[in-house]
Amino acid sequence: MTQNPTALHDLSLTELASQLRNRQVSAVEAAQHFLARTKAHPTLGAYVALNEDATLAQAQAADARIAAGTAGPLAGVPIAHKDIFVTKEFPSTAGSKMLAGYQSPFDATVVSKLAEAGAVTLGKLNCDEFAMGSANENSAIAPLGFDAPAPVRNPWDTSRIPGGSSGASAVAVAARLVAATTGTDTGGSIRQPAALTGIAGIKPTYGRVSRWGVVAFASSLDQAGVFARSVDDCALFLQTIAGHDEKDSTSANVAVPDWTAIVDAGVKGMRIGIPKEYRIKGLRAEVEASWEQGIKWLREAGAEIVDITLPHTQYALPAYYILAPAECSSNLARYDGVRYGHRAANPENLLDMYERTRAEGFGQEVKARIMVGTYVLSAGYYDAYYIKAQKLRRLIYNDFVNAFEHCDAILTPATPSAAFAIGEKTDDPVEMYLEDVFTVSANIAGVPGMSVPAGLSPDGLPLGLQILGKHWDEASVFKVARAIELAANFTAKPEGI
Ligand code: GLN
Repeated sequence: MTQNPTALHDLSLTELASQLRNRQVSAVEAAQHFLARTKAHPTLGAYVALNEDATLAQAQAADARIAAGTAGPLAGVPIAHKDIFVTKEFPSTAGSKMLAGYQSPFDATVVSKLAEAGAVTLGKLNCDEFAMGSANENSAIAPLGFDAPAPVRNPWDTSRIPGGSSGASAVAVAARLVAATTGTDTGGSIRQPAALTGIAGIKPTYGRVSRWGVVAFASSLDQAGVFARSVDDCALFLQTIAGHDEKDSTSANVAVPDWTAIVDAGVKGMRIGIPKEYRIKGLRAEVEASWEQGIKWLREAGAEIVDITLPHTQYALPAYYILAPAECSSNLARYDGVRYGHRAANPENLLDMYERTRAEGFGQEVKARIMVGTYVLSAGYYDAYYIKAQKLRRLIYNDFVNAFEHCDAILTPATPSAAFAIGEKTDDPVEMYLEDVFTVSANIAGVPGMSVPAGLSPDGLPLGLQILGKHWDEASVFKVARAIELAANFTAKPEGI
């Protein structure tokens, strides 16, 4: 009998993988442990679907592979997916009534890559409808244990939001319901919830991870990535899902490094850029203090701190809120009642079916964005809005290219504040959109970005720091994130879970 004083849910992804490989615990035991823990904590509203038979069958197969010596790097490790990755064994809803109960005939590439690596899928995690939101209050799907849709709750204070749109992916990891989860990030949906729940999350370079089987929001910005409690775990998890996929022509044929081998290389001699434009008006004192602390930590770890400029930063948010709706209005045209999901009952004719299907199937935020997107793409307004936003996109991209001539990575706050109360920003979309002020630029430029826990606010809520890197240089992002992780020594956990 092996001595194992640490509960399975307190282990990191890396530790869990090693215990499974060494047969200190079986994949079936691990799956049962996490399923039981998930069912014991329904109030957070994180999961929208379980399929215990499928999970246990995957775990048995993993145990067989471990016994046969053919196990992949994540053999038997329980993980869970944002419900925007389509899965054969679980329904796939993207948080929308439009897709409620939708059963995909295939797995997303990310899902099949993790299955090949031996990971065991516990279930699907709630998200804002079609990944539109910053608070995970916009899902139309009832979480497990609920009769109606409900906001996902932050385990640090359940009256607060966890961030969005991959809020539940962050909550499940922060509450130790699972060691690592997948997410997507179009304007900050991995980095912002990671920051607000005290965990690590990375959006890699645009094109690094296949989006085959990821329900599309804004295709020139959408990128898949991961959440875990440590930088190491993010490196291990991301390298399992990264790489070219011939089914996604936007996934690039760029070699995937062994990031786990370089995470600990240190930051000595690295140049870290501090962009002056991120000192926005009204920056909260605790956010500024945490940024200053991060700068100090990196300097003490041997990095050189350099002032840089990203002069078009103020245009990133307005450009994003034109480009993302424009692309969503086009992507979401496919939900017409014919091909997928919801169809209005007893239509009088084709037009009536289209109109009522879309009126019934989409939630308010999605409708608002489709309307804004259709407007900015319409003849007469195209040049004034869409083309102008595309031009800004090029300028923002150039800002990063120029800045990276002077530094190897950039350090900024991840969010303008700690987690806010459920409902606090629901009635004011602009306030909600301002949540993304530090994160959208990375999507616009396509560069990798990561959020790492930096400490607690005076209210005892987690704050994160964001590291941005050059295209394809997740390695530097991981190194800097690891240096902050070591210095921050963030061991706090949400209470009562
Ligand atoms: N909060 C942003 C939005 O609502 C980003 C969402 C995302 O990254 N998926 O569009």
